[in-house]
Amino acid sequence: MMKIDVLTLFPEMFSGVFGQSILKKAEEKNAVNYNVVNFRDYADNKHNTVDDYPYGGGAGMVLKPQPIFDAVAALKESSGMEKTRVILLCPQGERYSQAKAEELAKEEHLVFICGHYEGYDERIREHLVTDEISIGDYVLTGGELGSMVIIDSIVRLLPEVLGNEESHMKDSFSTGMLEHPHYTRPADFRGMKVPQTLLSGNHKLIEEWRTKESLRRTFLRRPDLFDQITLTSEQEKWLDEIEKEYK
Ligand code: SAM
Repeated sequence: MMKIDVLTLFPEMFSGVFGQSILKKAEEKNAVNYNVVNFRDYADNKHNTVDDYPYGGGAGMVLKPQPIFDAVAALKESSGMEKTRVILLCPQGERYSQAKAEELAKEEHLVFICGHYEGYDERIREHLVTDEISIGDYVLTGGELGSMVIIDSIVRLLPEVLGNEESHMKDSFSTGMLEHPHYTRPADFRGMKVPQTLLSGNHKLIEEWRTKESLRRTFLRRPDLFDQITLTSEQEKWLDEIEKEYK
């Protein structure tokens, strides 16, 4: 079972997210165990202070190293696991991706550190964490929402969490490309028709249509993704045909 610890100053933010949908089901299936910890509880000063003024002056408060170092040490020890990935939420970190989600889904113990205020004492970054992750090129108030995004994307990859109907194998990015379009009943909605191939019942043709539309969507929206994958010769041929349609 994967163990996920979250260090935050706002633990209440997580109850809704961990108590609903797939994240809740995953815990019920014993695929994951969540533990949300207020790192203020680890502050060793009289007023449980977790932040202080920056050396050198300037605006904003900085998270002190002591509460976070001690909280991580305690969580590592109580987990009983040999290896822990300590993940710092940070707009300056590596940009998050499906590949990173797949990498982290193989781990047994993850600790997320959610920052606030101006940021962290640099020694946390240098001496405590194994990964620094950003969820995109924008600045959030705190690391909580980012950690929820990352945890959701990891937990849905754990074995047995998604049923067959919800399988992630063909999701966008899992295949290296964007996923093909979907349609459901009715076949004709106010004159807007479902592509004929999808109604044909011919599984080979349907698979071919889906691969071509996946190629088309990736070509139109995220051509940069093609730099990171190797297409089959058949897919190369289809992509050439699609490119010609847009010339
Ligand atoms: N002063 C910092 C900087 O310019 O890099 C930004 C601090 S931000 C207001 C406070 C916290 O929110 C960060 O320490 C981090 O935990 C979280 N955060 C903000 N933007 C994020 C992003 N794009 N990805 C992940 N975490 C983010």
